[in-house]
Amino acid sequence: MQKPEYYDKLIRNVPDFPKKGIQFKDITTLIKDPKGLENAVNDLADSFKGEKVDKVLGIESRGFVFSTGIALKIGKGVILARKPGKLPAKTERAEYSLEYGKDSIEVHVDAISKGDRVLVIDDLLATGGTFLAAAQLVEKLGGVVAGIGCVIELTGSLHGRDQLKNYKVVSLVQIPVHE
Ligand code: AMP
Repeated sequence: MQKPEYYDKLIRNVPDFPKKGIQFKDITTLIKDPKGLENAVNDLADSFKGEKVDKVLGIESRGFVFSTGIALKIGKGVILARKPGKLPAKTERAEYSLEYGKDSIEVHVDAISKGDRVLVIDDLLATGGTFLAAAQLVEKLGGVVAGIGCVIELTGSLHGRDQLKNYKVVSLVQIPVHE
């Protein structure tokens, strides 16, 4: 398991993106580093070793990278949570608020079977709205949230983790929101 500082060093901070006042945590610098990518995938997968997982759900779009790596490592399949209108078959939708706006995500209704234990993965936890919406989608479709995992957790005033009290939440590095 790598120390949080290891990930902190590999993540690029982009001030005022996509709008003024937001410190954007850019994981492209982490995933272009072969060891960085491998360690992030391994550390997330290892954090949920004790949990039974049937499927790994990736949240569009940076969540796709890590969810696919984890799924390959644990021998499971990936399901996609995408922005509205992107998935071609019948979907279920959930709305959420972002640190910088409002959005919704969709999952194919046949992506999850009753009782499936689903590990929910994204790059970053900010307010927790996205993860909560994804968790609600899993549950709406009869699945069980096996855990929530991300590389970065923004701590401080956003209280993202508080929204996700019902779930096991793992982050590899915790960064105060305005740093
Ligand atoms: P939230 O729903 O507020 O927890 O926001 C999490 C989602 O928004 C994730 O998909 C992130 O990729 C994205 N996001 C929110 N804030 C940031 C940030 N400061 N830097 C990078 N991505 C962010």
